[in-house]
Amino acid sequence: MSAHIYDVIVIGAGGMGSATAYHLAKSGANVLVLEQFQRGHTFGSSHGPTRIIRFFYDKAFYTELMKTAYAEWRDLESVSGKSLLFITGSVCLGASGNPYGRTARRSLDAAGVESEWWSATQLAERFPQFRVSNDMDILYQKDTGFLYASECVATHLQLAEQSGATVREDTPVTDIDWQADVPTVRTEGDLFYGRKVVVTAGAWTGKLLAALDLPLTVTKQQVCYYQPTDTHLFQPDQFPVFTEATEDGEFLYGIPAFGFGVKMARHGRGQIVSPDTCERTPDTDYIAHIDAYIQERIPELGKTTHAEVCLYTETADEDFIIDAHPRCPDLLIAAGFSGHGFKFCSLVGRIMSELTLNGKTDFDIHPFRIDREPEISSGIPRLQS
Ligand SMILES: Cc1cc2nc3c(=O)[nH]c(=O)nc-3n(C[C@H](O)[C@H](O)[C@H](O)COP(=O)(O)OP(=O)(O)OC[C@H]3O[C@@H](n4cnc5c(N)ncnc54)[C@H](O)[C@@H]3O)c2cc1C
Repeated sequence: MSAHIYDVIVIGAGGMGSATAYHLAKSGANVLVLEQFQRGHTFGSSHGPTRIIRFFYDKAFYTELMKTAYAEWRDLESVSGKSLLFITGSVCLGASGNPYGRTARRSLDAAGVESEWWSATQLAERFPQFRVSNDMDILYQKDTGFLYASECVATHLQLAEQSGATVREDTPVTDIDWQADVPTVRTEGDLFYGRKVVVTAGAWTGKLLAALDLPLTVTKQQVCYYQPTDTHLFQPDQFPVFTEATEDGEFLYGIPAFGFGVKMARHGRGQIVSPDTCERTPDTDYIAHIDAYIQERIPELGKTTHAEVCLYTETADEDFIIDAHPRCPDLLIAAGFSGHGFKFCSLVGRIMSELTLNGKTDFDIHPFRIDREPEISSGIPRLQS
């Protein structure tokens, strides 16, 4: 068995781990990233071509944090020379008087971010792809868009390596001894020592930190892709990101054509699974359900041509966990991103780097404490993804 000492060991090279490694390495830290699979794998939560980025949220602190997250993504584009963030604008659709659009509007107003209520006629003029009834509430927000997700992860990792980080793939961490003088990370063949250890293990966080009994639930999620005959109509410069809160209490979202085509999915509690044994084949019932919605709302899209499975790691209040281990300040945890974390990777990476290297951050991460009492649900499902 060989021994290595690093300033920081990051466990997990997904969305959050890659961003954390990038910020740490560019600050001059000697970083080791340990990833159980190969980079870019499809078993976790950050694979696939797109994730929505948006300001509108039901809690104003997310909207505030998004201001820096957008700036960090733009910074990553300028450092890497790659296009990663595409602005399309968004429409939030819902039945007249539904609470979702109003909640989103309130958080935008509170943060000074512009949005507009549109009539069905305005929607038809700008985005004739939708079929909606005249009495629907339609909220337009111009800054919404999507991130080229798989490329964001790859870019953070590449730039971390260029700044000296070591990334070891196919290296599952089996144990962390946080009670040792220097936190010790065990893999199948090695022991690694890190002055600090950051756990960004996504759906496997609960298993890796089992003794902490973190309130994390892993669920199976699915997404459908569409390849319409007239692809031009659904390009990012022709078609927006959109969400819909249906009268049946469902929450659906869509992203313009990119990668496998137009992406559509339902946000919500999926089946509770283990990340190690989750069945990775999409369910035919789910695909039929999304196809039926598309038939009514955007019939030009036709039927699903491709579908994939992804995992959410959810907390009870759907707020993140960003905190130190309660009994070991040298072990930091970023987890529980509850189906809406990707847009924050650029910022979470910076926050984790600041917490690790300086012991503090100026960003308000108070809502993400491990020991918080989850807020009692308002009964209004979250505006996620
Ligand atoms: C279908 C779907 C749609 C989504 N849409 C959006 C959206 O539109 N907008 C948005 O903002 N967010 C969205 N999200 C949420 C977002 O993608 C996640 O919050 C984010 O990707 C979580 O990143 P992560 O780094 O925590 O997890 P992951 O990216 O899964 O990374 C965890 C990594 O840790 C590794 N690992 C785990 N255990 C170990 C171990 N013991 N040893 C070594 N390595 C280990 C894993 O292999 C994995 O690579 C969506 C999620 C899904 C599933």
